[in-house]
Amino acid sequence: MMAERGVRRLDADDSLDLGVLEAVMLDPKLLEILACPQCKGAVEADADHVSLVCEACRLRYRVEDDIPIMLIEEATSLEGGTGE
Ligand SMILES: [Zn+2]
Repeated sequence: MMAERGVRRLDADDSLDLGVLEAVMLDPKLLEILACPQCKGAVEADADHVSLVCEACRLRYRVEDDIPIMLIEEATSLEGGTGE
């Protein structure tokens, strides 16, 4: 069955890769070189993958068109981020 071949191929390692690519638009390698402009520490993609978070500074940097806005003045506080 041809369909079975497709499923097997997806099941190998493509499913994992696809899942990551769809969920995280940002390249993991890009995340590694990105640093918080305030503390120069590492940032992490948040649960929704629409922003980057610096846990040390409690700051959230938004991502626009897959481009992280790594500016302190553009960042929002994790605590007081309700009033956009
Ligand atoms: Zn920081």
